[in-house]
Amino acid sequence: MIDCLFCKIIEGKIPATLVYEDGNVVGFKDLRPQAAVHLLFIHRKHTKDINEMTKNDPTQLSDLFHAIRLYTEKNELHKEGFRVVTNQGPFAGQTVFHTHLHVLGGEPLSHFGA
Ligand code: AMP
Ligand code: ZN
Repeated sequence: MIDCLFCKIIEGKIPATLVYEDGNVVGFKDLRPQAAVHLLFIHRKHTKDINEMTKNDPTQLSDLFHAIRLYTEKNELHKEGFRVVTNQGPFAGQTVFHTHLHVLGGEPLSHFGA
């Protein structure tokens, strides 16, 4: 048994503000939002990070982006735009080891890169 915070959210054992659910994916509000809209999208099947996910079953990543497309279109986030981020490992500051995609938007985001 894996003791995983996000698996517990999926199972309803820890409360979260769910914004999206389908047979594969759950989306919920981040507890400490870094933007006006800050959501996390996770697959119901546990993997620890994006590389493990795409090695085991790359269709899970499609499931996540499918859910994000449906959510952002329904909630009109796609019009002004949004950002999808995933952190893998210590240099990126990953703190929860159940693969998750951050969806950030609802306001202009600081740009990075040239
Ligand atoms: P990361 O640093 O990429 O691993 O992201 C983990 C994210 O999970 C952080 O943005 C946290 O604010 C968020 N988080 C941690 N615990 C919870 C929780 N119980 N409900 C919702 N979001 C959470
Ligand atoms: Zn998990």
